[in-house]
Amino acid sequence: MLIVMHRNATSKQISAVITAVEKMGLQASSIPGSERTAIGVLGNKGYVDDLSIRDLSGVKDVIHVSKPYKMVSRDFHPRPTIIKIGQVEIGEGKSPVVIAGPCAVESEHQIIRTARAVKSAGAEMLRGGAFKPRTGPYTFQGLKEEGLKLLAMAKKETGLPIVSEVMASENVALVAGYVDVLQIGARNMQNFDLLREVGRAGKPVFLKRGLSATIEEFLAAAEYILAEGNSQVILCERGIRTYETATRNTLDLSVVPIIKELSHLPIVVDPSHATGKRSLVPPMAKAALVAGAHGVMIEVHPDPEKALSDGPQSLTIPGFEKLMEEIRQIKKFLGH
Ligand code: PEP
Ligand code: MN
Repeated sequence: MLIVMHRNATSKQISAVITAVEKMGLQASSIPGSERTAIGVLGNKGYVDDLSIRDLSGVKDVIHVSKPYKMVSRDFHPRPTIIKIGQVEIGEGKSPVVIAGPCAVESEHQIIRTARAVKSAGAEMLRGGAFKPRTGPYTFQGLKEEGLKLLAMAKKETGLPIVSEVMASENVALVAGYVDVLQIGARNMQNFDLLREVGRAGKPVFLKRGLSATIEEFLAAAEYILAEGNSQVILCERGIRTYETATRNTLDLSVVPIIKELSHLPIVVDPSHATGKRSLVPPMAKAALVAGAHGVMIEVHPDPEKALSDGPQSLTIPGFEKLMEEIRQIKKFLGH
């Protein structure tokens, strides 16, 4: 439930409403806005009888929110959330951010070489998986803690903040000890215990949309993280399952403007996993930025033919440099 106060409501009136909500056994959080203050009501299990609230002085309107997410929504938090990771800022109004790197960390040589190359091409953050959610159990599963150590080394070399996936609740503290942003992969988008655990880790979270998750389910998953007190969540569209087989997944670009309408959280697009095909990555990365994405995540490998995972969708270093050149033009066009 959202309580909208009159434009000229006094702080005394606002406090009286908060007290009334708390007396009902619910939590109230004040949402100051440039136009008026609203009060978000949390903790209710079903419909809240609003009669005692509606009549309080200063109350303009009471809106019942039936969505499964609240703190994630624009109704509760009208201003965009900007997430700061070192010097990097992600969110509405900021220059779009490029996160690049290999699917998996494979060796010191591979990650350091890629980190240096993507940094000098203009990427702002480095990605690389140490714990890999592979479809089958007999393929490369990642270097685990050794991979995290190599990522920390790459950060020391280049200064690039690190994004890496955590797959299990028991590894959240370990991964959080090495990386700047905890990635939740598509396959774990509805692993609710894991979402709660990263919500408590105090680090920004990069939440990828599930393979067949609706936008409502995607935002409800983010709500689990915010509900633990962590509002530093970056959403990522990475393609969804459809009947189409020409691409690995189907990139749902309309998510970008839809998320911007529904939520204050930043939305990034991953055209690598969305398409599965190197030649399709640059056009879809550019389309995502023009659609208003706050960033793109791109897989890059110095020798994709020999990559231990996702070689066919990884850009070569020259391919990435060319894309960055084009992204610079797009940023100019977008006014950044
Ligand atoms: C990844 O980014 O490394 C990854 C495994 O992606 P997704 O979870 O979107 O499949
Ligand atoms: Mn991958």
